[in-house]
Amino acid sequence: MNLLDGKLVSAKIKEDIKVETAAFIAASGRKPHLVAILVGNDGGSETYVASKMRNCDLVGFESTNIRYDVDITQEQLIAKIKEINADPNIDGLIVQLPLPKHIDPEEITEAIDHRKDVDGFHPINLGRMQRNLPCFIPATPYGIMLMLAHYGIETAGKKAVVVGRSNIVGSPMSILLARNSNPGNCTVTLTHSRTQNLKQEVLEADIIVAAIGRKNFVTADMVKPGAVVIDVGINREVSSKTKSGYRLYGDVDFDAVSQKTSWITPVPGGVGLMTIVGLLKNTLEAAKGTIYMK
Ligand code: NDP
Repeated sequence: MNLLDGKLVSAKIKEDIKVETAAFIAASGRKPHLVAILVGNDGGSETYVASKMRNCDLVGFESTNIRYDVDITQEQLIAKIKEINADPNIDGLIVQLPLPKHIDPEEITEAIDHRKDVDGFHPINLGRMQRNLPCFIPATPYGIMLMLAHYGIETAGKKAVVVGRSNIVGSPMSILLARNSNPGNCTVTLTHSRTQNLKQEVLEADIIVAAIGRKNFVTADMVKPGAVVIDVGINREVSSKTKSGYRLYGDVDFDAVSQKTSWITPVPGGVGLMTIVGLLKNTLEAAKGTIYMK
């Protein structure tokens, strides 16, 4: 078993981003600027946003975290998004999901100017991604592609099975793996909770991407010897044994599955760290105006 080491790869790519950012600042006289909106006080979301802000600082970006109480109305939130869309000093905007039930995430996603949509969730970016045109690629699938590229994992002609079809992970991942690019050119099966014979589907995969949200869902008897396994899941459980008070588990039973794989991502230390890298790269591109002219 070889480890797809998110810690190592993300550190290396962040060093490159840091250098590029310094050059951008020298040329333009300003820092790339990311704004993150956080509604309510979901523990997981707070941790993710704090980590995104910390990493912005690390590579030399300006970052702003705007926080709202859980009872903010959809209209108020959209008004703020429109204000940010019009602000030339802000390059990228993300609204941390999940949102409270009274706010429609689709409407919020579409309210964000697609040229500042560094999460890559806007339908314009998703459509352009499907057509292999320049766009912001959703951060998690983007990070996974960067990881596959870093390790030179052969994907062309391979059978990939993605478990989970969410708009932010599973669906875009299946599109990227199927595209005529490198990494890519896989024969992709996208599975979900209504898939029949899921175990059989996964057993046939050369590359497995698990994005379900259930601890240890992918077990060793579902995995073909030599498969590449990407574990996107982040399942938090309270623990008295850690400083933070919780412990993270993936969607893959790592101890047993890793005995059979050629390559596998750990949790933590895998996809989560690469997601941040995807976001940072998108934000830098937004500031430089290389994907959409400013
Ligand atoms: P969603 O809840 O939006 O989607 C889960 C998907 O899993 C759905 O498509 C669902 O199917 C499918 N699913 C659920 N149960 C089963 C089952 N028994 N068999 C087959 N498919 C099933 O989750 P996300 O995509 O947002 O996130 C998935 C996981 O990844 C979570 O743990 C999340 O925390 C983590 N995550 C990690 C990130 C990172 O940076 N590492 C970033 C984003 C997410 P259906 O559509 O039919 O309901």
